Amino acid sequence: MTKKGLLIVVSGPSGVGKGTVLKKLRADNPGIVPSISATTRTPRKEDKEGVTYFFKTKDDFERMIENGEFMEWAVYNGNYYGTPIRYVNDNISKGRDVLLEIDVQGALKLMEKYPNAVYIFIAPESTDVLRERLRRRGSETPEEIEKRVAASEWELSQKEKYDYVVINKIVKDAADEILNIINNAKGEIDHDD
Ligand code: 5GP
Repeated sequence: MTKKGLLIVVSGPSGVGKGTVLKKLRADNPGIVPSISATTRTPRKEDKEGVTYFFKTKDDFERMIENGEFMEWAVYNGNYYGTPIRYVNDNISKGRDVLLEIDVQGALKLMEKYPNAVYIFIAPESTDVLRERLRRRGSETPEEIEKRVAASEWELSQKEKYDYVVINKIVKDAADEILNIINNAKGEIDHDD
């Protein structure tokens, strides 16, 4: 029987640099499979259907909820986001480690259902650094940026519920730290078997 893969769940406020850290992690570890979420938000210019997200209408997304197609889903900033369960389960059962980059509400839901997953929160050095990153990214309006900064306060208040908190100061260091966490978690799971 194939050993099951590890479910890795990463959250962090918008603008914390999750994307960059996880890109580095994946570049160094091509064996980690990123899950592709479905969302109803409008695509940004760097988005690609089926690569960054599966873009859905509200009706389609709600149908998927009814059909039980999501491992978890949440409403973030007025849009639906969800993790299609099939792709994750297929990969895990084939022994591949799967990485979910999801918001805090979604991660909290999974903590009850999947206690064997490893939960990692990526935190900013400060709220000012977060706001500055969002400004530089230039993909949100000033109002949208303030909404995301406001949301980050609640998100940060939940970080102790995660197994690990990684502060993103230097991308390479944060990616290395996450890799260590994953390797340790795998060692523990192997040991438990
Ligand atoms: P963005 O609009 O910037 O791509 O994502 C907004 C937030 O939604 C981020 O915190 C991102 O991690 C989260 N997110 C992306 N996919 C999912 C998902 O499938 N489920 C949940 N709960 N959150 C998601």
